[in-house]
Amino acid sequence: MARKQPAQKQLRARREELEAERAQLVAQVAELDAEADVNNWREGGFDDDPADAGSASFERETAQSLSNHARGLLTQIDDALRRMDAGTYGLCERCGEAIEPERLEAIPYATLCMDCKRREETGR
Ligand SMILES: [Zn+2]
Repeated sequence: MARKQPAQKQLRARREELEAERAQLVAQVAELDAEADVNNWREGGFDDDPADAGSASFERETAQSLSNHARGLLTQIDDALRRMDAGTYGLCERCGEAIEPERLEAIPYATLCMDCKRREETGR
């Protein structure tokens, strides 16, 4: 069994990073949702000018898609924090090996090691 978790100290630092990122995302989602909220756009009276209406709806869609993206990240961060609690953080969900430290550095909420990720992407 080559189950190796990142050292406790590293793990604590990583958790703090994730929690900071999480707080940022929560604020971002709230902001984007307010921006995407149809009710905030009604006042503007875009009806007269189709160009304005078009760009307003484009901006709203952009805010919505950014918000969805941020939500997706939030889910992944929550999941990583849960795995930290469970003591399985940093272990590949597929093969159980330790995920490469440089990969966790780049994507702290990664759930697959590089090999498994590559296999997943190529569908093998
Ligand atoms: Zn793996």
